Amino acid sequence: MAETMNPVLAKWYDEQEGLLRDWAKEIWSHPEIAMEEFHSCEVTAEIFRKNGFSVRTYHCKDPKLPPNTVIASWGSGHPVIGIIGEYDALNGLGQEAVPYISPKDGPGHGCGHALMSPACGGAALALKAVMEAEHLPGTVRFFGCPAEETVEGKVYMFHGGAFDGIDCCLAWHPQPKKWMIREDTQNCCSNLKVEFFGKSAHAASKPHMGRSALDACELTNVAVNYLREHVDPTTRMHYSYLAGGEAPNVVPKYAALHYFLRAKDLETDYEILERFRKIVRGAALMTETQYKITLNSMVTGCLQIDDFNDLYYNAQRKIPPLKYTEEDKAFADRLFAEFFGREPGPGDTVVNTELCAPTHQHLNAPQTTDAGLVANTYPTSRSVGLGVVNGVAGHSWAVVACAGSELGLKAAVYASKGLAQCAYEILKQPEKVEQWKRTLAGLKQGQDLTTIPPGTVLEEG
Ligand SMILES: [Zn+2]
Repeated sequence: MAETMNPVLAKWYDEQEGLLRDWAKEIWSHPEIAMEEFHSCEVTAEIFRKNGFSVRTYHCKDPKLPPNTVIASWGSGHPVIGIIGEYDALNGLGQEAVPYISPKDGPGHGCGHALMSPACGGAALALKAVMEAEHLPGTVRFFGCPAEETVEGKVYMFHGGAFDGIDCCLAWHPQPKKWMIREDTQNCCSNLKVEFFGKSAHAASKPHMGRSALDACELTNVAVNYLREHVDPTTRMHYSYLAGGEAPNVVPKYAALHYFLRAKDLETDYEILERFRKIVRGAALMTETQYKITLNSMVTGCLQIDDFNDLYYNAQRKIPPLKYTEEDKAFADRLFAEFFGREPGPGDTVVNTELCAPTHQHLNAPQTTDAGLVANTYPTSRSVGLGVVNGVAGHSWAVVACAGSELGLKAAVYASKGLAQCAYEILKQPEKVEQWKRTLAGLKQGQDLTTIPPGTVLEEG
């Protein structure tokens, strides 16, 4: 394999960089929250239609809603290379593309997903160009995935069969650090809605006639906070209130909680889930309320294939280095100073441009991804990093600002080239994919990785 980027790909990016930049700006300028990515979906689908892909759009969760999901394919036969991108924004994070806090109404791309569909989707378009030029057999399939932030989008897509038939999968995600393969395994997660149904009554004159759904929520949370001491240390249990009553002088007849129960493996996650269900039953018993537990989604961690990760890293190394102008660096310095409350010093890395080699260490990470089901079913390699000032907090104004600026746009193009080069190299050595499938099967041996489909009512009582 040559030591430099494929020349057809290089030419494609020279000619089409503007397309990727406009695509990213369009999604960034119209931020949409999870499950409502209607504009982002249409913009993405239209680009693929114009480029000769066969395109399917639909709403992954509710067929009555406009489409928020894109599946765009080109080519025929195997290997079928999947490339996944996302586009959802976060509520309340609207921010201008400036290096200081300047809020805008509405959501903002606080996780940088506006860069992902152009970077990952752009790689699919570039791959088509090289497949045509070199008459390479195989299929490239791009997935425009909604609702990553609620850990739901790819879960609905997966259970709906969206990924059926792919042979392997690639992705990139911007982050405030160097480029690296996401080698940690990430926690499994049960994402739950818990509802309690009581009886309303005047809270002062007839409280004995009421049964408080809010009390049931509070007792659930107290019990979970006691449970913390007696679970595996990798476990994370966190909650927020979806409803907690309307007024203090009315005993709340309805209250609801949103829970994430995360653990290092699926067996532990199921175990925590069982104990959680006992808590909910207990809270309902104590308060004489009814309850309903709905599983919004359940995801696994991500199994890792070192050989695939190495191939991806080596492909990215062939891409000409990511370069920023003095103006870009001044933007980054100002943002750094605003975010950290001090000017960057000589020891600070402000802008990331470097690559980290894979370590082949697969440590547990407490967070979760909805890509877990994909990664545990098909050989998958995902990279993260670049595009955001080093070290700033994820899901913050700083990420929104970077994703809308040159820092993000240039990183997206650079990352896209690496994805395309990697996919090209897979097409040149399809036997690798078969080898990775065998590795994945070996990693899964003896483990039951069956998850409960999203939207399942677990129990009521
Ligand atoms: Zn993200």
